[in-house]
Amino acid sequence: MIKCKTSEDCYIGSTVNIKRRLKEHKYRSKNDTNPLYQFIRNNGCWDNFEFSILEENCIKLKETEQAYIETIESTLNTNRASIDYKTHLALGLIHSKKWRLNNPDIVKKYKDKYNKWTLTCECGEENVNRNHMSRHRSSYRHKKKVAEKVAELTTDENLSAS
Ligand SMILES: [Zn+2]
Repeated sequence: MIKCKTSEDCYIGSTVNIKRRLKEHKYRSKNDTNPLYQFIRNNGCWDNFEFSILEENCIKLKETEQAYIETIESTLNTNRASIDYKTHLALGLIHSKKWRLNNPDIVKKYKDKYNKWTLTCECGEENVNRNHMSRHRSSYRHKKKVAEKVAELTTDENLSAS
């Protein structure tokens, strides 16, 4: 999953080779006209996007990918570059809604998984719930940890300089 840090926009993808896929994304984001890459360019480039792995060693890769796309309503999954972004988004939302109505069990399964999904914050805090990330980042605990890290780094630099 590639997610914009400043909005809920995201892209869900699947691959058997993450390294190669990420390289491709980075390369194509430079001037590819696919809506995903245009969006990345128009929204602060890679610094403003975070990448994370939702599932590893998936057996039904494409099925799982589709389930996440529809459940999370990922806004940047499209190959229809010919239609404008707003139209695409509206069509996508209608499609996702229909899909969810027809597949309530799958939606429940993936929604639960997604809600329980945790990340390691850059401050070092482990198992932060994805939905609580922005709240965590503005917390005293996070700020304190970041400050400690910065202090540590500064001390290291001083040591190596002397
Ligand atoms: Zn943190």
